[in-house]
Amino acid sequence: MSSLPFDSKPLDVAVAQKIILGTIGFAGVERVSLTDALGRVLWEEIIAPADIPPHPNSAMDGYAVRAADLAECSSESAARLKVVADLPAGYVPKAPLGPGEAIRIMTGAPIPDGADSVVMVERTAKDGEFVKVFKPTRLNENIRPRGEDIRTGDVLMQPGTQLQAAEIGTLAAIQRAFVTVARRPMVAVLSTGDELVEVDEPLAPGKIVNSNAYSLVSLVREAGGIPIQLPLVRDSREALKQAITQALVADVVVSSGGVSVGDYDYVKPVLLEMGLEPKFWRVRMKPGKPLLYGLLHGKPYFGLPGNPVSSMLTFLLFARPALRKLKGYPASNWHLPQITAVTESDIRTKGDRPTFLRANVSYQNGQFVAKAMASQGSGVLSSMLGAEGLIFLEEGTSVVATGQTVPVLLIRNPFRF
Ligand code: AMP
Ligand code: MG
Repeated sequence: MSSLPFDSKPLDVAVAQKIILGTIGFAGVERVSLTDALGRVLWEEIIAPADIPPHPNSAMDGYAVRAADLAECSSESAARLKVVADLPAGYVPKAPLGPGEAIRIMTGAPIPDGADSVVMVERTAKDGEFVKVFKPTRLNENIRPRGEDIRTGDVLMQPGTQLQAAEIGTLAAIQRAFVTVARRPMVAVLSTGDELVEVDEPLAPGKIVNSNAYSLVSLVREAGGIPIQLPLVRDSREALKQAITQALVADVVVSSGGVSVGDYDYVKPVLLEMGLEPKFWRVRMKPGKPLLYGLLHGKPYFGLPGNPVSSMLTFLLFARPALRKLKGYPASNWHLPQITAVTESDIRTKGDRPTFLRANVSYQNGQFVAKAMASQGSGVLSSMLGAEGLIFLEEGTSVVATGQTVPVLLIRNPFRF
């Protein structure tokens, strides 16, 4: 495809997402130490190399005994066993247990040969070199069998598993100090516009702060990518060309601004000049209609709109799934999760395009409740503050009454844990 279908109709959101994902591969793998593995996606099968625990051990502080020696005992006539050894956790028994004997044992210590049961210390009384036991025990009582936790050959984790605390703890338990994980894609973040100043520069008349770079860099990180924030790019063809060339060191390029139909929106023509293989330019949605996507020298290029809310939403809907695919997540984890919620107040919109409304989402009395933010302007960044979800309204829906159900895409954890 050499000519861009710029004049064609804007694409449906789902169609655009599908086109993007169809061009996305896998970022490749790297080996990381376990201490750096949190949040990474595992890219190997983990098979248990040994049994855990490696030996039967005591589940209680008490006495290792032979159940047969206690068969006749009761609270009236205690069994009297000779205490022949003391076995703390971390040590191995020196000699097997003989008939009529007991070994003092601590939780986690290996069960001595000859013992087949552990009596809790609470059920005994010390009597010089002997211990009195008042109740029979069952065979294997209070003994954790070898391999109770993990058995040799068990498949513990599959490629695609996200490594969290439980996985990392388990990897440590089987002595895996390093693991193979999917590489995190590097994402260059470019901000274009003559009106922009950096966050630490004086705000001259007519200027605004480049806030997009900061929200986008954060979104890249949340999506599992490594952001590379490039310096501001002025609205000139030459500056853009230079900046985009530099951005190509990354695996993916995300720019904001300059993709609309303004006189100084140079991103599109410059990219075409640089050999972009364009995929689409506009998506039928509000906010965020202009969204340029294509492959530049084989690398995914997302030309996001400049409005602060539009750039965040188009990132979440289109760039985030791509980064998650690159990062090795299974397909079920690429897109934002969707729930159904009940509206907490009436909603009125134009209904001229499929619309995403920022909303507070909470879980109350067994159902999700969504409340659209009062202001929904695409320039109102503060309407993203605290927004857990995006209410999705089909084209033509202009009124939603309180108490109706609506589909909601979650952009934050509504449970706040
Ligand atoms: P554009 O897509 O370049 O026409 O920009 C659309 C709107 O988004 C304008 O009001 C810009 O000032 C604003 N904008 C563009 N880039 C940024 C940015 N990096 N940070 C904050 N606002 C921006
Ligand atoms: Mg601009």
